[in-house]
Amino acid sequence: MLDLPEFWKSLPRESELRGKYAQPAEYAAQWILPLAAVLLGVVALVSGAVAAGLLLLAGGGGIGFWLSRLSSAAEEARERWARSLICRQCPATFLREDAVSV
Ligand SMILES: [Zn+2]
Repeated sequence: MLDLPEFWKSLPRESELRGKYAQPAEYAAQWILPLAAVLLGVVALVSGAVAAGLLLLAGGGGIGFWLSRLSSAAEEARERWARSLICRQCPATFLREDAVSV
């Protein structure tokens, strides 16, 4: 058993395993869209377009929530990778805590 991050760092640059065992990418959330929707919603509310304003606020909030979920799921996958071990006899990877209980 090897530490997965250590194993990955030890791979030669040209190794095709580098892609396979790489740490999952960070999720680059596009916050500009929900922010713009919320800002537009506030502008609409202030200028008296209440229905449109509420719709934009709800839409912006919903997209923002969804983006934050995606972003924390990606962060979680990265943390799992950092805690993983790899078996040298087969290509399996394990979470450190799972490996201990086997
Ligand atoms: Zn194995």
